[in-house]
Parts: sequence; structure tokens; C-alpha cells
Amino acid sequence: MLFDVSIARCGSYDPADVKEALLAALAPIGGLDWVTPGMKIAVKVNLMMRVKPEKAATVHPQVAFALCELLAEKGASVVVGDSPGGPFSLAYLSAVYGGTGMRQVLDAGATLNEDFSIIDVVYSEAVAAKEFQITNYLVAADAIIDLCKMKTHALMAFTGACKNLFGAIPGLRKSECHYRYNTHEAFANMLVDVCQWCKPRLSIADAIMTMEGNGPSGGTPRFMGAILASFNPHALDLAGAHLMNLSASEVPTLDAAVKRGLVPADLRELTIHGDLESFVIPDFQLTPKHDVKLWGSKNETIAKILSGMFASSPRIARDRCTGCAECKKVCPAGAITIREKRALIDTKKCIRCFCCQEFCPQGVITVHRPPIARLLNRK
Ligand code: SF4
Ligand code: SF4
Repeated sequence: MLFDVSIARCGSYDPADVKEALLAALAPIGGLDWVTPGMKIAVKVNLMMRVKPEKAATVHPQVAFALCELLAEKGASVVVGDSPGGPFSLAYLSAVYGGTGMRQVLDAGATLNEDFSIIDVVYSEAVAAKEFQITNYLVAADAIIDLCKMKTHALMAFTGACKNLFGAIPGLRKSECHYRYNTHEAFANMLVDVCQWCKPRLSIADAIMTMEGNGPSGGTPRFMGAILASFNPHALDLAGAHLMNLSASEVPTLDAAVKRGLVPADLRELTIHGDLESFVIPDFQLTPKHDVKLWGSKNETIAKILSGMFASSPRIARDRCTGCAECKKVCPAGAITIREKRALIDTKKCIRCFCCQEFCPQGVITVHRPPIARLLNRK
């Protein structure tokens, strides 16, 4: 079961289709046999922002509903939660629960998290994040189920099960992490540390409607028609990335997990239940690739010169910017100002974390790749 991944076809978000597909995805890996009556289970969904399910930026509530229903049938006590990029507070989360349709899980007997306490973690086995803070509702649970959305991601190329657990870090403390772990490698290692600390008992991906292009929030929904399940979040991500034509070395979190021996680099070493290849989308649109090796060079002058020449940066379509300042709120570098009701980025301050691109509700921030990087065909 170490590297088993199961995939099942799901044609729509129709309740019957979703439940049938979820059961089909869970069956080959032993379903929910491990769930016992009275067990407290936290379902960590991806609710990155207040946005309708049709945008494919968040886990579709129907998938969460079907899972909660199955868990309730087992007698588990289920809490569904996340901590998106804004404040970790009842007022903010209430709006997100409502806007994403996630209140639907209440009808399945689950509750939505209203515990906003935070726990300090010391994790001596970590590679990068030896100390961090985490949302208490996950700590209080007997088991965590990592219910992620499969999408492109400007910073990490792909977001699935491992990246979903970044939402275990409370609210705006996530922005601080971008400053602290300021290379792709360090950031990816932090994400793997948090994932390993959380130890999700089960990971499930909503890949019925995925997001391509300017992900994880401003891209285009793309039908893939799949639900994936695995007891290993990194194995699930390796299979999921393959569906978007990405290998382990092209996804920093997978690369970090491979280096730690948490997952093989070669997809053929996974035990796949289901016809994975039939779900691959050959022309799936990714976000422009970053120059992983150049970003974060130790020599500051060289890093600046190389960054200016090769590194991707956020670009705002100012004519479509509404001046809402959501990007300014999440920018860890204080690089964004609002002038004449339009956002403006100070490129000297920008650390290229792409939080602004991630949280722009209008999807008007894209990843700009310098012409020379494109010319050198660095995909
Ligand atoms: S979040 Fe988007 S729309 Fe809002 S100010 Fe920033 S760039 Fe403009
Ligand atoms: S401007 Fe955007 S990419 Fe640059 S530091 Fe701020 S949030 Fe990160």
C-alpha cells in the first residue's frame, strides 16, 4: 500500500456520479475500513479563496459532501476546514464557506471548523521547517484526510495533496513562509515538512474539473473526469502531475519528496489501480516554468542580474484591475501599492513568491517570462 494510487472516472459533479466514483477510487486501497465509530476526522479541503465551485479553484463541495457522508456512515465525527490566505477568523472563514458552497457538508452530518486556535510545533526531523505554527483543529483530530484540488500552480508548477497542507499554517503566517523559505527548494522542503508532520491518513484529489494555465486561481477550468486516492500524498501527486505531463523533477515538492525517499521518481514504481494513462491530457496548459536553479543564488549581485534576465515575475493587466487591494494584503514583501485605483508592483522589492497572482480575485495577475528565458527554450 506504500505507493498505491487509485483512479476512478467521474463524468460530472452530479451527486450520484461523485459518490459512485469516490467509492470506486477508495475500494482498491481498502476504502475507509480504518475508520472506527467515534473517530474524530478532520477533512482538510482546499478552499483557497471565496470563489464559486465552477471556477475550479477550490474542492467541489459535492466531493466533500460525498466523503463526509461515507465517513458519517462509519460513525466518525467529521470537521471540514481550511485556512486560506486571509485572516484565520470566523468572519473570514464564514464568507469562504458560504462562497465556495462548502456549507453543503453540514447536510452530510459534518461540521465546519470554527476553532481558530493555533499550536506551536517543533519538528526536529524537518529538513527546512523545524518550527512552525499550525491550526489546532487538525492537531485535535484522530486522523486527517487531505482532500485536495488538482491544479497548476505558478510557484510550485502543480498543486495537489502535499501543497494542500500549506493551508494547515494559519492565515497570513503563510505569507511569512514565503519570505523565510525564499528559494524553490527551501519552500518545497517546508511544504514537504508540513505534509510529513500532518501525516494525512488518506489523500484524495478532486480532479473532475481541474485548472490549467494561470493557476491556482486565475486559470481556466479543464475537465479531466477523475478522482484519485492514496495513503501516500506524494504518490498521489506523482500520478496527478503525470496527468498534466509533469515529471517529479519538474514539481519542486515532488523533487524534495523523492530526495527524501518518500516516493519514487519513476511513475512505473507506483502501483496504479485504474487506467491512469487514459486520463492524461496531452495539451494541458501549464504556468510558465520558473528558473528553479537560478532563483535564490547565494551571491546577491549575480542573483539580481540573473533574476532580471531569466526569472519569471508577476505582471498585472492594469486595465482589468479593480483596485480591490487583495494582492496588497497578501504580499509578504510590501511590494504592492494601490495608485489611482490600480495595483502597482515595485519590482525591486518583489521576491517573486506569486502570492498576489494566487489571490487576485479577478485573475488579472499572470506569470511573465522574460523573452531571453523563452528564447533559450527553458519550457
Ligand atoms: S488583487 Fe487583482 S484586481 Fe485586486 S488590486 Fe490586486 S491586481 Fe487589482
Ligand atoms: S508582488 Fe507578488 S510576487 Fe512580488 S513579493 Fe509581492 S506577492 Fe510576491
